[in-house]
Amino acid sequence: MSAPHRDGTSTPPVPVTVLAGPTAVGKGTVSAAIRRRYPQIHLSVSATTRAPRPGEIDGVHYHFVSDEEFTRLVEAGEMLEWAVVHGRNKYGTPRSAVMDAVASGRPVLLEIDLAGARQVRATLPEARFVFLAPPDWETLVSRLVGRGTEDAEERERRLATARVELAAESEFDVTVVNDEVDRATDELAALMGVRGTPASL
Ligand code: 5GP
Repeated sequence: MSAPHRDGTSTPPVPVTVLAGPTAVGKGTVSAAIRRRYPQIHLSVSATTRAPRPGEIDGVHYHFVSDEEFTRLVEAGEMLEWAVVHGRNKYGTPRSAVMDAVASGRPVLLEIDLAGARQVRATLPEARFVFLAPPDWETLVSRLVGRGTEDAEERERRLATARVELAAESEFDVTVVNDEVDRATDELAALMGVRGTPASL
């Protein structure tokens, strides 16, 4: 999808990059680091029906909308993709903000779940798909069940989900290993054609 040109020059930056990966791999942490350190990148602000957590700002971290409003946006064709995540709340990518950022020449990052990534693959096949992977299985397990607050059944359910999610890696163009947040963030930014010193640390 983004192979080097025959003359050896590198491929022009791909305008839309999709970051997905298993639950608890640290996608949210990496995208927060992108927001903080690489303001050149347009980080898509998703719409969600879940309630804001303390510190989350409407329009910055998410567009917090009612179920009715979410349905209206979907029916009006205003979502590039959407999914019910963890069987609970709806999350979706507003199409127009992504297209406006692409039109203005900014690299765009979508941090979404696997079901959403598959939809973008169908509607925007020229996007680049980056899989954020844990350094190893044990690290993911400890991040998933580390707090030890779940019962055995819940733990097994999460691990089974993680196995299925990890198997999706082969659908992606590139894997970035989240061994260290700043390093993984720099690798992702470089993949998006944003190089050099980050705007702020
Ligand atoms: P959280 O509620 O912890 O912020 O996010 C939960 C999950 O929702 C994460 O796995 C995140 O990748 C996913 N997510 C966030 N925004 C979107 C979106 O616009 N579309 C899809 N499909 N998933 C999203």
